[in-house]
Amino acid sequence: MKASEKFNLYTLSRPSFDEEAFERFLLDNDSNWIKKGSSTHADRLLEGAGRLCYMAFGKGAQSERDNNQYIGNLIDKGHESVLEHISWTFLITGVSRAFTHQLVRHRAGFSFSQLSQQYHDESNTNFIEPNELKNIPELHKEWEKLVQNSLSFYKKLAQLDLGSVGTLEVREKKRLIRSIARSVLPNATSSKIVVTANARAIRHFLLMRGNIGGDPEMRMVSRAILKEVKLDAPATFQDFELSDDYDSIGSVVKVSK
Ligand SMILES: Cc1cc2nc3c(=O)[nH]c(=O)nc-3n(C[C@H](O)[C@H](O)[C@H](O)COP(=O)(O)OP(=O)(O)OC[C@H]3O[C@@H](n4cnc5c(N)ncnc54)[C@H](O)[C@@H]3O)c2cc1C
Repeated sequence: MKASEKFNLYTLSRPSFDEEAFERFLLDNDSNWIKKGSSTHADRLLEGAGRLCYMAFGKGAQSERDNNQYIGNLIDKGHESVLEHISWTFLITGVSRAFTHQLVRHRAGFSFSQLSQQYHDESNTNFIEPNELKNIPELHKEWEKLVQNSLSFYKKLAQLDLGSVGTLEVREKKRLIRSIARSVLPNATSSKIVVTANARAIRHFLLMRGNIGGDPEMRMVSRAILKEVKLDAPATFQDFELSDDYDSIGSVVKVSK
């Protein structure tokens, strides 16, 4: 077992926009969209969806706003359901169960698939050590000892012979034994989670979680997410920026545009 595991965020899927299909729709409706400003597929899809609400396409129907301004205006006006049309799927590894427990509290516009501690044998699990402890040798040592002891006891419990437990089938008996064994795993136990979220939900998450001084793991993940979504949808996340606040991890801040 490695005491600590490196954090990783893999982007499994990104928003896409079949612009040709949208152009066919415009043609079918004798409309012509005048595209202003550079924009990515993701940002363009949101503009198209926003414009559809008013069929605001073409000369006379469109304002002077470019894509960035158009999306900024949607956000300013609170017309944010439009932002739900683009989403990402991330695989996050090397984070603690404490972190994932906080993450899965985000209900609206999020979907999760997390490594199970009932179906998966955690005997080879890693633990996520808070950075601050790594620089305090005595506490770092004590922390390592504690998580190793937990793991040793986990392994012992995982071998528990319960004899015949009522009418439980083999599969359920295994689940019961792992449920008992996992009860001694600490919050620092490493987890893996697949997260799908739309842009509106991600914006809310970044606002709530991106700049909490006392929560470095949240700030670390928020930054990784922001870097990814900004690649695909810079206009949609134009008012969020990376900041050097607090420590070497930094944070995500909302800025006024
Ligand atoms: C600094 C901080 C401290 C926290 N401390 C604690 C704590 O001590 N204990 C604790 O249990 N949690 C705590 N939380 C978690 C917090 O209460 C939320 O559960 C979590 O941040 C998810 O936020 P959310 O509900 O806004 O997000 P989502 O579930 O993603 O919801 C997004 C938005 O949708 C709307 N919405 C979603 N569901 C409903 C609904 N059922 N009814 C009406 N509107 C809805 C709301 O506007 C909501 O803001 C803390 C969070 C933070 C940021």
